[in-house]
Amino acid sequence: MTLPMGTSTLELDRTGVAPRALIDPFARSINYLRVSVTDRCDFRCVYCMSEHMSFLPKADLLSLEELDRLCSAFVDKGVTKLRLTGGEPLVRRGIMTLFASLSRHLDSGALKELTLTTNGSQLDKYAKELKSYGIDRINVSLDTLDADKFRAITRWGDLNKVMSGIDAAQAAGIKVKINVVALKGVNEDELGPMVEWAHGRGMDMTIIEVMPLGDVGETRLDQYLPLSMVRARLATKYTLDDIDYQTGGPARYVRVKETGGRLGFITPMTHNFCETCNRVRITCTGTMYMCLGQEDAADLRTPLRASESDALVHAAIDDAILRKPKGHDFVIDRRQKRPALSRHMSVTGG
Ligand code: SAM
Ligand code: SF4
Repeated sequence: MTLPMGTSTLELDRTGVAPRALIDPFARSINYLRVSVTDRCDFRCVYCMSEHMSFLPKADLLSLEELDRLCSAFVDKGVTKLRLTGGEPLVRRGIMTLFASLSRHLDSGALKELTLTTNGSQLDKYAKELKSYGIDRINVSLDTLDADKFRAITRWGDLNKVMSGIDAAQAAGIKVKINVVALKGVNEDELGPMVEWAHGRGMDMTIIEVMPLGDVGETRLDQYLPLSMVRARLATKYTLDDIDYQTGGPARYVRVKETGGRLGFITPMTHNFCETCNRVRITCTGTMYMCLGQEDAADLRTPLRASESDALVHAAIDDAILRKPKGHDFVIDRRQKRPALSRHMSVTGG
């Protein structure tokens, strides 16, 4: 076999083909994969899901072994950061076996980070085990510290469970970042106290703008709070110094002088963060989305199931990357009653 110059046999993947790094048409290098391992969840957050959701039939889901194979195909192609999300990743039955098997890529050095985004409800049960598989940092989504408000936002959630989950993660030595969605008239007055709480416990915090994904039975305009306003309000009480901190995600960080902690802002609506996009997503049915904010998708389940070799999957991934768009075009508009995209965040993963 003739190898491209500079390719050693060690660099050959399971198909015997030299893996290609994933570079999109805008010269962005794609090294971050987010995997929605289930569309189901034990909460029904008002901005994410409607109260009565219909979920995918279980028969459509990739098995945990197939998810492992698909994730590993992306690792072969140069993905170095893998985040499992959902729905709620920790409610998928047997999910620990997927973390366990994927941790071999941490051991080999191919993956730099294996992590998850969770609502925290099952963390007290799984934190220690997650740590043993090399999960060092996680994101926990939490929009309020008020138990009644928490119940109203999540419809079904119990704040105490999440708090003991966060305790368990920190006790296990996992670094926790708190993700807060800014919700107009709901938690806007609480964001300052939440920053103090998170930083007081040694956790970074990130504030996220509501994105128009999926019909949730509420008008987005009622929920949407531009982070420019949030930041301006926080700046009346705290000193926010811009810092050059990068986690491989789209957040822009400041250091809050009074607490000494880091605060991130994710602003898909008021500031387009697409120029530096380094990620793609796959769903639990093996559909690949090249952009969270566009409909275009690629089916990876068919090539995955068509052959035991990964050659077809690798080719499908390469083709899909060539279709990665320049950016999203989310708009929250009074005249537009429908969501910008019909699929919910829980399908593609946040
Ligand atoms: N269930 C897990 C959780 O809540 O962390 C993981 C999946 S959830 C879809 C991932 C993140 O997306 C959460 O931080 C959630 O707050 C956020 N999210 C969900 N719907 C959103 C929306 N419409 N706009 C902005 N963020 C959203
Ligand atoms: Fe579930 Fe997370 Fe969506 Fe809330 S944001 S409903 S916890 S998937």
